[in-house]
Amino acid sequence: MVSASSACGNCAFFDEHHGNSAAATQDGGLCRFNPPVTQPTADAHGLWPVVSEKDWCGHFAPETAGGMTAAE
Ligand code: SF4
Repeated sequence: MVSASSACGNCAFFDEHHGNSAAATQDGGLCRFNPPVTQPTADAHGLWPVVSEKDWCGHFAPETAGGMTAAE
């Protein structure tokens, strides 16, 4: 069982940006652990996986005191 503190909403790779859809989910965000996963057409941007703040996975990393550092 994973605790709520290990959920996507508390992960360094969670991005609150709702960029994959015009209809954003209330508690959704983008997982930035891996690169975008698909590119629908040659001139389209790749899509970042959309996750819920309450989701989780085995790559969870706690946010640092200074904020996001993984891609900086
Ligand atoms: S899917 Fe995993 S790596 Fe991505 S935000 Fe959630 S816990 Fe973090």
